[in-house]
Amino acid sequence: MKCPICEKGVLRKKKIKETMFGVYLGEFPAEVCTKCGESFTDIETTKKIEAVAKKKGIWGLGMKTKIMKSGNSLAVRIPKKIADYLNLKQGKEAFIQPQDHKLVIEVQH
Ligand SMILES: [Zn+2]
Repeated sequence: MKCPICEKGVLRKKKIKETMFGVYLGEFPAEVCTKCGESFTDIETTKKIEAVAKKKGIWGLGMKTKIMKSGNSLAVRIPKKIADYLNLKQGKEAFIQPQDHKLVIEVQH
């Protein structure tokens, strides 16, 4: 089968190591493109990955947020779900930096 993303490679059955938000979820069967490396899982496997992510409490942690004005700076609203997961508290110190056009906020544990 041809890859639907790049339309150049061929899909081959392979085991892939699945991670979500940097948390390792396990190895799952997938079809991986020989050219672009894009991987595809069937509905059954996708459901299994979802179940493991839910069990680990990380399902749905990626979400939209608003950037607001705070004096001359901007403030990012961190949703309660993420704050609880990372045990963030008001007043805690964090290190903020850009990385590949993304915003990374590192919090000490
Ligand atoms: Zn491809």
